[in-house]
Amino acid sequence: MSAKLIDGKAISAQIKDELKEKTAALKEKGITVTLAVILVGEDPASQVYVRNKKKACEYIGYNSLSYELPADTSEDKLLELVQELNDRSDVDGILVQMPLPKHIDEKKVINAIDPSKDVDGFHPVNVGALVIGEEGFVSCTPAGVIQLLKRGVPDFDISGKECVIIGRSNIVGKPMSLLMLRENATVTVAHSRTKDLEAVCKRADIIIAAVGKAKVITADHVKEGAVVIDVGINRNVDGKLCGDVDFEAVSQIASAITPVPGGVGPMTIAMLMNNCYEAALRHHR
Ligand code: NAP
Repeated sequence: MSAKLIDGKAISAQIKDELKEKTAALKEKGITVTLAVILVGEDPASQVYVRNKKKACEYIGYNSLSYELPADTSEDKLLELVQELNDRSDVDGILVQMPLPKHIDEKKVINAIDPSKDVDGFHPVNVGALVIGEEGFVSCTPAGVIQLLKRGVPDFDISGKECVIIGRSNIVGKPMSLLMLRENATVTVAHSRTKDLEAVCKRADIIIAAVGKAKVITADHVKEGAVVIDVGINRNVDGKLCGDVDFEAVSQIASAITPVPGGVGPMTIAMLMNNCYEAALRHHR
């Protein structure tokens, strides 16, 4: 392999350690960071995500409040709880674990969260703030990608580079494109209707794949020396976890690449923790 491996686990651990130190300093000023996590139902993957978020809070020194509600919880009951947490001055961040059961309107729930406590960065006010370059919370996965590029490839200057993002979802592709614009990259967003994806990708200095399909990005899509970030989480034919990028082949061509697992994945929680810290700072300003 010729590409440098961008180690998301190590960078995530570094960010959490920095937050741990800053949190201890806040505690000395009498400020404790508090994250409230709401889980509705018993989806096993969601239970793992919530457990990991609680563990990260514990490690850094945040207070975490946990609300585990039955799957048949009504939308009104959930909205009531969100309102109660919005009103509590000791709660800095509110996270409602997605997906929610089908009878609950996710949009309604996201819109009910106080934007100043929306540490997932999904509320339209925070999305709008990102669009116009104002202060707000940024969706955690794309924010994590920026940290991977800055800390994982420190000599690589994003400014002026051609960046192709594959995927245009509200939680990854779209905010990713705005963050890369903010970093002064020249941004192209590709999607399922893009004609000749290979040619579009081939001009990129930075490829960010957020599709959700194994091996959709092959060696034929990648220019020699490009930096490749793989957001995808898929299972290959053997049931093993893999990304959107044909790692074996692309790592021979790229100058730096993220693995799956161990690349973007660990960054999402680190950036969530960072948003919680920022929320507490803003509440105590
Ligand atoms: P999504 O909402 O399903 O969006 C997928 C995007 O890929 C869509 O914009 C779609 O285009 C595009 N697409 C689909 N097939 C394509 C193709 N053949 N060529 C080009 N574009 C294509 O998915 P998401 O929520 O953004 O997530 C993407 C992947 O990232 C998933 O594997 C997910 O599990 C993973 N993920 C990882 C993390 C993490 O922490 N590491 C966090 C979030 C998501 P259209 O818009 O035209 O349909």
